[in-house]
Amino acid sequence: MLAFATEKDDCATRLDAKEQIEHTAQVFGSGGWKVPRLVEALRQANDLYADTVSQVRIPYWSKTRVALVGDSAFAPSFLSGQGTSLAIVGAYVLAGELASHADPADAFAAYEKITRPFVEANQDLPFRQGGSSILLRTQAELDQRNHRFAALAQGEVPQKDDDYVRQVHNSLRLPDYEQ
Ligand SMILES: Cc1cc2nc3c(=O)[nH]c(=O)nc-3n(C[C@H](O)[C@H](O)[C@H](O)COP(=O)(O)OP(=O)(O)OC[C@H]3O[C@@H](n4cnc5c(N)ncnc54)[C@H](O)[C@@H]3O)c2cc1C
Repeated sequence: MLAFATEKDDCATRLDAKEQIEHTAQVFGSGGWKVPRLVEALRQANDLYADTVSQVRIPYWSKTRVALVGDSAFAPSFLSGQGTSLAIVGAYVLAGELASHADPADAFAAYEKITRPFVEANQDLPFRQGGSSILLRTQAELDQRNHRFAALAQGEVPQKDDDYVRQVHNSLRLPDYEQ
């Protein structure tokens, strides 16, 4: 996978497949390490998939007797990750609330009330200042990211920023439905 930040948010959809490959090859043209191999593989690929990074937000997760959970309701962008955790938490709360309410509509409302703030806090992680470690725009951001990864590899205690991410990841206290 090759990802890059651009001011033009429509380049994945306005170009045809050949142009997408050329554009991407140009962006990564001066890259080192494994990048030339990746660009070469891109040129050979017959199953190219190009898209813009998007965060879809839907205003409600249920209607009458149908409720959505996991990616269908709240897929996070790959900038925040957490899709698996959100899906499992959502499924747990949805099942628990269904077991606790006679009317599914009440269960769905409770499920969304409990889960939505947690979901949105996770989806919003990359939109904070310096929040994304994937689509970086400046050399300073790259240096900071590389320093962070090097420190983690050395087993250093995470910096404050990582503490915030961890806080968001753990910000929902799961209800105990066993009682
Ligand atoms: C390349 C990639 C990397 C990812 N990396 C991470 C990561 O590192 N960490 C992380 O937390 N998340 C990651 N995610 C996101 C994570 O995989 C999803 O958020 C998570 O799988 C969502 O779970 P889900 O159960 O909602 O949906 P899914 O896992 O997509 O499950 C939906 C299931 O429904 C089935 N289905 C679809 N239509 C029908 C139908 N009509 N009838 C019957 N079955 C049907 C599908 O076959 C599928 O098995 C990644 C996703 C991708 C694509």
